[in-house]
Amino acid sequence: MKNNFEFWTHFAEFLTYLELPPRSDGLETNPFSMLISKHFASKIKKGDWNDPLLRQVLPSIAELREVNGFEEDPVGDQESVQEDGILQKYVGRVLVIATPACSIHCRFCFRRNFPFHADPTLIPRLDCWLEKHTGIHEVILSGGDPLMLDGETFQNFVSVILKQEHVNTLRIHTRIPVTLPQQLLNTEKQSHFNCLQKAATQKQIVFVSHVNHPQELDDESHKVFQNLREIGITLLNQSVLLKGVNDNVQTLVALSHKLFEQGVLPYYLHQLDHAKGVAHFEVEDIRAIQLLNEIRNLLPGYLVPRLVRELPRDGSKKPIV
Ligand code: SF4
Repeated sequence: MKNNFEFWTHFAEFLTYLELPPRSDGLETNPFSMLISKHFASKIKKGDWNDPLLRQVLPSIAELREVNGFEEDPVGDQESVQEDGILQKYVGRVLVIATPACSIHCRFCFRRNFPFHADPTLIPRLDCWLEKHTGIHEVILSGGDPLMLDGETFQNFVSVILKQEHVNTLRIHTRIPVTLPQQLLNTEKQSHFNCLQKAATQKQIVFVSHVNHPQELDDESHKVFQNLREIGITLLNQSVLLKGVNDNVQTLVALSHKLFEQGVLPYYLHQLDHAKGVAHFEVEDIRAIQLLNEIRNLLPGYLVPRLVRELPRDGSKKPIV
């Protein structure tokens, strides 16, 4: 993880910065620490507890409540482990937990209880695993956030993927365009961008940003997406439907429009994964379906994301209808 960027990690200092009165939210006993990039924090409206970006990142006492059906591993990550850090849930695709590091700790995270650890043997093991599994055509770099890797390690991951003839697609899931865009605006040699530029001449690259609210998108994210488009990378976005953040028609419509303005297609709107500690973000299915029906009347079809849910042992994400 890079350490030359700035993050908010201290609850009281963060509240002071936001011009909010002090309060205690059981943070001392919350196992999921607070981490917010200062870039993301700069887009939060000061003095407003209900700011939709703040609600995504501010630890809350509600996370400590036990709620039936909300579990440590809501999407069956553990049972799909092939080897440490290498997960296969779907035919032809493999997911790599490339790093435990994130640029932000989203309070609704489905992997908030995942037993992450950095493993220096992962790259050579991935290399061997891919050599043996010739039915894999797509490798998904996930985490954590794969773009939190240093330039050299990221390059090493990409290299072992590029050399596999049977792999035709590299997919990257990331929050970086809205949290630490400087990671991708650096276009020097050895940079992540430089690596992706070379990779895009050899394989299909699908870049999936995770943006939940239009207020997260700014000039820097626009520049990141523009640069990636110019080198031929496919840009998609997935969002999570979150109570108090984006569970209204106006926000979802604005999000689709703004993503499109920045060159990104909204493809998934996820129902919340039932991880332990996130129940207060839940939007009921009936409301989610109603929202989708309403935004469908206001947007062209290509800007309407698919409402889906991921469940353990399902062969694919399931549409909610
Ligand atoms: S960036 Fe992704 S992995 Fe990290 S906390 Fe947010 S949702 Fe979880």
